[in-house]
Amino acid sequence: MSDRFTERMRDAEVIKDTRLLGDFTVIYCKGVHPDAARTPLVSDGAALGVYGKKPPVVCERCAELLVYAEKRRAFCPKDPKPFCSHCDTHCYKPDMREYMREVMRYAGPRSMWHGHAVDGVKHLLEGRKHKKEMRRTNGA
Ligand code: SF4
Ligand SMILES: [Zn+2]
Repeated sequence: MSDRFTERMRDAEVIKDTRLLGDFTVIYCKGVHPDAARTPLVSDGAALGVYGKKPPVVCERCAELLVYAEKRRAFCPKDPKPFCSHCDTHCYKPDMREYMREVMRYAGPRSMWHGHAVDGVKHLLEGRKHKKEMRRTNGA
């Protein structure tokens, strides 16, 4: 684990976003991979206590996404940071980007019933704004 990663993982915004990502992925994993074996996440972020005492409990594929996403979030150049699915930089590799999109699309609206009312609404509004901007850019 690099010193830079450890340093970034102390930032309150990075911690908040990483936890949110963990919560969203848990919602997605439970709903979309109901039969998969799930275990508490083992990652650099979890080792640093970013998720608190209980790391997200997810399947192997979702764990892969979280391990990858922790790094992307830690080193994200955007400030303020949008939701990754609405970002114009797209620092994710294509398969992970698509996976993350699926997670956000599934868990965003459902997160309102899992103690994330504010984040759920924010996700919804940001999605609408993003679609509007895309239409304007494409001249539609
Ligand atoms: S996709 Fe965009 S917002 Fe997400 S981590 Fe990468 S640069 Fe930051
Ligand atoms: Zn899963």
